[in-house]
Amino acid sequence: MNLVLSLLIGFAAFILGAFLWTFAEYLLHRFAMHELKGKGMMSREHLEHHVRSTWSFSATHILSWIGMLLVGAVLWMPIGWILVGPVAGVSLALGWACGYFFYEYQHAVAHRRAPKNRYQRWVRQNHFQHHFGQPMKNHGVSTLIWDKAFGTCEQPEIVRVPRRLALPWMVQDGELLPEFTGSYILVGALDDSDRLAAIDRARAFASIAPPD
Ligand SMILES: [Zn+2]
Ligand SMILES: [Zn+2]
Repeated sequence: MNLVLSLLIGFAAFILGAFLWTFAEYLLHRFAMHELKGKGMMSREHLEHHVRSTWSFSATHILSWIGMLLVGAVLWMPIGWILVGPVAGVSLALGWACGYFFYEYQHAVAHRRAPKNRYQRWVRQNHFQHHFGQPMKNHGVSTLIWDKAFGTCEQPEIVRVPRRLALPWMVQDGELLPEFTGSYILVGALDDSDRLAAIDRARAFASIAPPD
């Protein structure tokens, strides 16, 4: 096969693989994580993530990474290989894996670090509206195309964030940093009572936003 054609097929399959991931990202987040209400490890781990809205590395991440690499290797690679050829098969799986790890990275740094560009500012506003505004909206983390397609897109100008759950990068001495006042507003008090913690947990597992 000529080299240019192989490169084109490889490029197209890679893009398709990444695109397939974005659809999986939407479906998994909406149905396997939120709709299952804590049944099964994937849903439980995710709703646990909603309780405090923090992100830290744990062994279960390695399980997810291996799982998604396996989906690329045993599902997408053979499909592309059989339908088009080896270049398409390998590229499809690579695109899938890159789409997945791009999402994993963007999600983790959204929780841990201030945005560095326009895209990351959007990822944070979109995702923290999901955490603090409406957990059954904005299931896409890396893109909004599927939320637009399925009518689950919610993009307020200012995202309300309960003060006790504010991300460490957006506050200093309990107040919102001035560079984020156009995107977020802190609501409620710094309350670390057991009562509120129990409410936050129950609401997270019911996919209801935490109270102010
Ligand atoms: Zn999150
Ligand atoms: Zn979620």
